[in-house]
Amino acid sequence: MFSAYGCEVGVVGESTLHQRIPYVYIGNDKSNCIIVQGGIHAREHITSLLVVNMAKHLLKRNDLLLLGGIYFLPMVNVDGVRLAQEGLDFVKSSKRRQELIDLNGGSIDFSLWKANIRGVDLNVNFDASWGKGEQNVDYPATANYIGSKPESEKETRCLVNFTREVNPLATLSYHCKGEVIYWRFGQTMNKLWMHYRLAKAIAEDTGYALAHDKGSVGGYKDWCIHQLGIPAFTIEVGSDYYKHPYPYSDFFNIFRINKDVPRKLLNSVVKMKQTAVKHSIIKNGIPIDDEVDYQLITQDSVDDNQEQLDNITNCTDEQPDNHSS
Ligand SMILES: [Zn+2]
Repeated sequence: MFSAYGCEVGVVGESTLHQRIPYVYIGNDKSNCIIVQGGIHAREHITSLLVVNMAKHLLKRNDLLLLGGIYFLPMVNVDGVRLAQEGLDFVKSSKRRQELIDLNGGSIDFSLWKANIRGVDLNVNFDASWGKGEQNVDYPATANYIGSKPESEKETRCLVNFTREVNPLATLSYHCKGEVIYWRFGQTMNKLWMHYRLAKAIAEDTGYALAHDKGSVGGYKDWCIHQLGIPAFTIEVGSDYYKHPYPYSDFFNIFRINKDVPRKLLNSVVKMKQTAVKHSIIKNGIPIDDEVDYQLITQDSVDDNQEQLDNITNCTDEQPDNHSS
């Protein structure tokens, strides 16, 4: 469908089982882009449907202003998602099939599987305090295995290399579930404040709560913040009212809430970049621009106001009730 509309579709790389990890690009300026990714945890495949439909939404609504471009990566863990959805039939190696059954406690029902096809949890396999997470395990499992080293997995390396290549201004990672937004990973001073403003804007737009899980490290969002210094957000869609595998009957509710988040984030970070450039030239106050989707840029955002930073820390350190994502 996407190529029929004349937009760029491509491959980020290949999975362990040589399946293609696809992307679609929509926009007009690759030097100002963001990445939106989903399906890194197998059982959260509703986020793949979400990311594809976000891209479709932008195609259909070509009247909406885009100040740059968006790379949509709907399914990073293509092998894992297929395992969760289809079971073992597509896995050719009988040895691997048996290993997967063993890891899955003897069951052939893989609908709750989170890891990749090698039993590595991709969202703890990134080089950002790797191996220091509270729930990390050091053996293959359905979830939480960190891998033999950072970026040990093909899918992780694909995402890392692609991200370095396109050099995004921000990233959005879609997970399920809990209706919360994670945005912290050791930011300080101005960066903490500016990333917080973005997170708060997304929270107000979606109605999701801001959260901070200090025990969770090694994820893609963490890597983007730590290694690239860019704002990065993990958005947990879907209510804890439901259990995994998350019911597709709730999809349109999730889509309605999130469909404009990528565009608004893109436009906001592009404006931030442009304003920062302007600011560094004129060394003057930053004007508020009515066209910014998330009203982020005020003089406050460039002040090192310790009291404000303390407030940010205090109001977002609470971990919400347990939700598995
Ligand atoms: Zn997840």
